[in-house]
Amino acid sequence: MSRSAGGSSLIDRLNDRYEGTDLTCPECGYHDEDGSWRASTNGRRIDYRHLCPSCGNNRIRTVTLRD
Ligand SMILES: [Zn+2]
Repeated sequence: MSRSAGGSSLIDRLNDRYEGTDLTCPECGYHDEDGSWRASTNGRRIDYRHLCPSCGNNRIRTVTLRD
């Protein structure tokens, strides 16, 4: 089973990488066990967003693609 390289599979890989990572809110300490970082990209960078369901704190992480 092989997957072709492409934009969507890159996002899939990055989503996998962030799955379950750092889902504890730094503001209120709530651990969002069922939550996840959501990735979106414009082709040059990827923005990951996580919204705390407890206090509404919105975190964004940006990763710049290098090639
Ligand atoms: Zn919070």
